[in-house]
Amino acid sequence: MMGRQRACLAEALYTGYGRLREGAVALDAVEAAICLLEASGLFNAGIGARLQLDGSRRMDASLMEGRGLGAGAVAGIKSVRHPISAARLVMERTEHVLLSGPPATRLALHFQLARQASPTPAQRKALQTDIRKIGPQASAAGTLRLFNTLARRRKAGLETVGAVALDRAGTVAAGASTGGVTLMLPGRVGDTPLIGCGCYADDEAGAVSMSGVGEGIIRLAMAKTIVDRMASGATPVAAGRWALGLLGSRIRGQAGALVLAPNGKFAIRHNTPYMIAGYWNGHGEPVVKDKYE
Ligand code: ASP
Repeated sequence: MMGRQRACLAEALYTGYGRLREGAVALDAVEAAICLLEASGLFNAGIGARLQLDGSRRMDASLMEGRGLGAGAVAGIKSVRHPISAARLVMERTEHVLLSGPPATRLALHFQLARQASPTPAQRKALQTDIRKIGPQASAAGTLRLFNTLARRRKAGLETVGAVALDRAGTVAAGASTGGVTLMLPGRVGDTPLIGCGCYADDEAGAVSMSGVGEGIIRLAMAKTIVDRMASGATPVAAGRWALGLLGSRIRGQAGALVLAPNGKFAIRHNTPYMIAGYWNGHGEPVVKDKYE
């Protein structure tokens, strides 16, 4: 799996950078890269998104551009192949920043975003296997008990997808897309669709995209916290290291961050054992690794 994920990330870097080379804005590059990852089925996003305890696939996504601080997000969206494009619709076709649940799905389908196939029998089977491992059925009554049991056993899920980019005009953008965390309660919303938590972008400071356990990321508004640190003069490495240190020490949170400054300096930081991620500036080959120091 890791090998295929690495190859897919390299392709996403070629795609995103390709858009920039054609003169597209950073937001286009972020959306194009994330669309490719959502369509791959290799990550917890788009067609690969995890199923919730009731067998449904509800997805979250957000994006933001740093020039005018435009932002859009969807939470709990279903049946849409590219939640990141639905987030962009919210940003560009409505006066709002975040739409959730069935109305978000309706908006995406109204604008004729591609539909997503239903979860495959294999995906449903995997969910049932997970649930059986724990014991009780995911009935309405048993759901909370099951969730609490799982929450204690769960490891950080780090397969949410995200991207940051800087275009020729000096504008930065960030985005993220996820199926949430393993066997989460239906209705749970993580950090990914929350601007300032899952992503943030400001041309005067930088852009950040987060992955990791949303409950911790939300409580420290990680993306905005890192961007603010850069606004105060910290480099991407220092800002990312400081915020992840805080996350670990204050609330034992686990996360990874893609951090980009408007001058092109960047950092990939995580306080989890691994984080598969990559970068490319258009020269040579994209770099993709499972771990960053
Ligand atoms: N951040 C996502 C969430 O909490 C999960 C992840 O990154 O794996 O929904």
